[in-house]
Amino acid sequence: MPKEFIKIKKLCKNYGEIEAVKEVSFTAKKGEIIALLGPNGAGKSTLMNMIAGYLSPTSGDIEVCGKDIKKFPLWGKENIGFLSEGSPLYADLSVRAFLRYMSELRGCAKGRVDEVMKIAKIENVASQKVETLSKGYQRRVGFAQSILGDTDVLLLDEPTDGLDPNQKKHIRDLIKTMSEEKCIVISTHLLEEAEHLCNRIILLNKGKVAVDGTLEKILQKYKAASLEEVFYKLTANKGDEK
Ligand code: ADP
Ligand code: MG
Repeated sequence: MPKEFIKIKKLCKNYGEIEAVKEVSFTAKKGEIIALLGPNGAGKSTLMNMIAGYLSPTSGDIEVCGKDIKKFPLWGKENIGFLSEGSPLYADLSVRAFLRYMSELRGCAKGRVDEVMKIAKIENVASQKVETLSKGYQRRVGFAQSILGDTDVLLLDEPTDGLDPNQKKHIRDLIKTMSEEKCIVISTHLLEEAEHLCNRIILLNKGKVAVDGTLEKILQKYKAASLEEVFYKLTANKGDEK
């Protein structure tokens, strides 16, 4: 296993005229929980979709655990846990049926579905159709799906979006517990999530990496008292969605 779990070089994605991701490069190791921060439209989801192999880059390289994701997209789907934005779920399946289906696709061991339902605390809605669940529960079903494969790399696009404070704490605690053995990237615009949960912050603005480092180093660099101050300094009036 190579030391770097994620290795990205000069990654770009254009949607027609829009340059959503511009020359993003970084590497990430086991044990890192990276907060991918940035205002709406900064390119967080686009970047994550590319790393997960769901979107092809315009240019640049992506390696996950030493594998080129462009060359081995199927390997990526089996070996990267991914919670996409808004967690697209099969709305008319029950929670259990949905997770069973995903677990079969991923070739997971029998019994894994029950395990992840327990971990995500969704056993009580196992027989309920996904479309009838609240946003918070749907998000947790998406989270359960992302950990089915127990992969080394986990990409979570706004994992706590729509959750109440107790549910947020639960998911954050879970992420923390899992992080020792994995490399986890979480996109968020919640600064407190980045501060308390993550040991590294990558701030994206208009598709570019504006800053990358530990909270302590970032605060030092910008002589700031809080991440909020840095966020504002680097992104205010610049990152608004067109
Ligand atoms: P974030 O997740 O940080 O909010 P996104 O990656 O969703 O940002 O979007 C980055 C930029 O790319 C935005 O300007 C957005 O409008 C644009 N964009 C995203 N998806 C598409 C798409 N499918 N087609 C055209 N433009 C897109
Ligand atoms: Mg997004």
